[in-house]
Amino acid sequence: MDLGRFKLGYGKINPLIFDDHTKIQLGTLLSKIQSLRGMNDLKPGESATWQYLESTISDVIERYGYQEIRFPILEKTELFKRSIGEVTDIVEKEMYTFNDRNDESVTLRPEGTAVCVRACEQHGLLHNQTQRLWYTGPMFRYEKPQKGRLRQFHQIGVETFGIAGPDIDAELLLMTARFWAALGISKAVQLEINSIGSLESRAQYKAALVEYLGERESELDEDSQRRLSTNPLRILDSKDPTTQSLLEGAPSILDFLDDQSQAHFEQLKALLEAANISYKVNPRLVRGLDYYNNTVFEWVTTDLGAQGTVCAGGRYDGLTSQLGGKPVPAVGFAMGVERLVLLLDTLGVVPDGISQQADAYVVAVGNVTVPAMMLAEELREQCPGLRVFMHCGAGNFKSQLKKADKSGAHVAVILGENEVEQGVVGLKYLRDDREQETLSRVDLIDALKAL
Ligand code: ATP
Ligand code: MG
Repeated sequence: MDLGRFKLGYGKINPLIFDDHTKIQLGTLLSKIQSLRGMNDLKPGESATWQYLESTISDVIERYGYQEIRFPILEKTELFKRSIGEVTDIVEKEMYTFNDRNDESVTLRPEGTAVCVRACEQHGLLHNQTQRLWYTGPMFRYEKPQKGRLRQFHQIGVETFGIAGPDIDAELLLMTARFWAALGISKAVQLEINSIGSLESRAQYKAALVEYLGERESELDEDSQRRLSTNPLRILDSKDPTTQSLLEGAPSILDFLDDQSQAHFEQLKALLEAANISYKVNPRLVRGLDYYNNTVFEWVTTDLGAQGTVCAGGRYDGLTSQLGGKPVPAVGFAMGVERLVLLLDTLGVVPDGISQQADAYVVAVGNVTVPAMMLAEELREQCPGLRVFMHCGAGNFKSQLKKADKSGAHVAVILGENEVEQGVVGLKYLRDDREQETLSRVDLIDALKAL
């Protein structure tokens, strides 16, 4: 394309004077389209760790008798405003909210709990019954992207409904501990728990906290100053170091618990101790969402820097009524998949066996495309555990063998015109010091099964 006439730069180009093909080329010259900030692609080599993580965790969840639920990514904005709370980071500044073509305000889900409750209510799943559910998928929050903090991230979440006692809280914590054991990261994560009591006991605590922080208002960070009147408990969750150090001397929520909340918390601790799960009580642990009561917990790691919470949850008995339904006791948690993947990578605990490499590579030389493809299919049929790559796109023997080697395959299965004529195949071991063999189909299959 001759751009000589447009020496003054791209700004001077009038795209209307080009035909479509030239316009596309120009578009390529001007800018390449990139993904949105904080929204990552998962490149092919990276998906093995994700698959390992997802399958290990879902296996454990299902062994506890939980069922998967799937729900949409886009919901009415009102759902999140009413559940998460107007004065939370998520609703105030992190949601992807826009009007759809019908001028209805919709939001890309920032979390799964509210959606799970909405779906269960909608389908009558909470009426006189218990539910043990789990889900996985992307969540969206407009945050400042950094290590372990993205705008599109993924969660695996578990929610239970209809069970009020500390036994189910403990079950969830036992389940999470089993995840870490199955993944081989138990030593890298610590459990922190707290009780934020009932609505009434929390109101009394809030008054005491506001009194304490009110006397030190000028020293608080800007968000916390504002929250002193709107949502003071959230100040406990502030990441500002000065505010955090002021909180050292603040009254503890645990001194304000009503008898029932106190008993619930004691029983939970006893269950954890009986199961040998070590934990730390952190009286300043509150969650970043408004709907929790009694038990709250986080699994944290020091191996990931600032974004150390890999799993977080708690009890939310008030949420269903907040969303217009009957009160249903509920407790759940969500895990950040990216953070867990980072942790697995940091600790180097992903087993080698989960590689996505080939086991056998079919090399097809000459005019043998049809029999070679049929051979590859036959191998997949007869050897179900075997990953068979078929060479596509011609090429001489040497270049195909190079590709076979690069694929990571253990063996190359070689088919040329001679082999087709004689009804045999070549088998070349790519990783062992062994002679190339010529085998019948039956012997080939036996040899591959023995790999
Ligand atoms: P944080 O304090 O790190 O902002 P949060 O309290 O906002 O977390 P939750 O809403 O409880 O997080 O979500 C549960 C889990 O999801 C978190 O513990 C974390 O592992 C993960 N998570 C939350 N936000 C993000 C994000 N923007 N990017 C990646 N993972 C996230
Ligand atoms: Mg957050």
